[in-house]
Amino acid sequence: MLTSTADLRSFVVSQHKLGKKVGFVPTMGALHEGHLSLVEASAKQCDATVVSIFVNPSQFGPNEDFQRYPRTLENDLSLLQKTGYLQAGYMTGGEQDTAVEVFVPSITEMYPAGFDTSIHVGSVSQILEGKSRPLHFQGVATVVLKLFLASQADTAFFGQKDFQQICIVRKMVSDLNVPIEIVMCPIVREPDGLAMSSRNRYLSASERRQAVVLSQSLRLAEMMIVQDNIRDAAAVKRAAEQKIRTAPDAVIEYVSVADSVTLDELQRIESKPVILLAVKFGTTRLIDNLVLSL
Ligand code: AMP
Repeated sequence: MLTSTADLRSFVVSQHKLGKKVGFVPTMGALHEGHLSLVEASAKQCDATVVSIFVNPSQFGPNEDFQRYPRTLENDLSLLQKTGYLQAGYMTGGEQDTAVEVFVPSITEMYPAGFDTSIHVGSVSQILEGKSRPLHFQGVATVVLKLFLASQADTAFFGQKDFQQICIVRKMVSDLNVPIEIVMCPIVREPDGLAMSSRNRYLSASERRQAVVLSQSLRLAEMMIVQDNIRDAAAVKRAAEQKIRTAPDAVIEYVSVADSVTLDELQRIESKPVILLAVKFGTTRLIDNLVLSL
């Protein structure tokens, strides 16, 4: 396990010297199948993988769940070990052995005293999640850029689950010429359709049962657009919202039918729309989305 950025860099340099391609999987821990799917994607596409586990304080607002965010390092490491990713630091990924390292920095390692730089990505970070979480994406962009530069990894793997986050990371990488490839991996869901999330554990039994309406509302939107050929975004949005409201404890923060690159709200649904939503159950805020190709 690596804890300093210097050791992280040495690890990647040593892999590069061996001619290996290095993948990077940034996480906040509390690992589940969704995270593991990113590790698997990296193991398939790269020769070595770094999984970072860091609950990044700068992406939490003052009234958000930074303090209570689950920290389960032992469990995370044993999960990676059980699936074979960390066995003796190596796993067998097809023809080649794939090294998997874990990077677990402290807060002061990432933000030493006097740290005073932040990355602000423009308009795409101001809407949707950015509206209710004003400094969230600034915190995300700053820590992600720092991880990219500290590691010098070749490819980074992100989940579609946080779709807006990927749009922001892609924009930052393109605007600032960061030499890294960004790969988006599909959303991993529970058998009933709920997108896996470290925050699902906050849900009460009743909220957990109700939370299935999120993916159901996305499926409904998909049916309307793909099967019924409906192109009126407002009608699709209304239907999705109605479906979510069948759950008595659901409080909708937003449902958006948007362009999947700019995230600008659509009036008429065209080629590659994304439907994004954020819904609260009690104090737990859940997000989900669906990207369509028409
Ligand atoms: P987090 O630990 O929540 O910051 O997530 C770390 C990475 O895992 C992000 O790129 C997320 O998009 C991704 N991720 C989280 N949940 C899922 C999921 N259910 N399916 C796929 N990727 C996910």
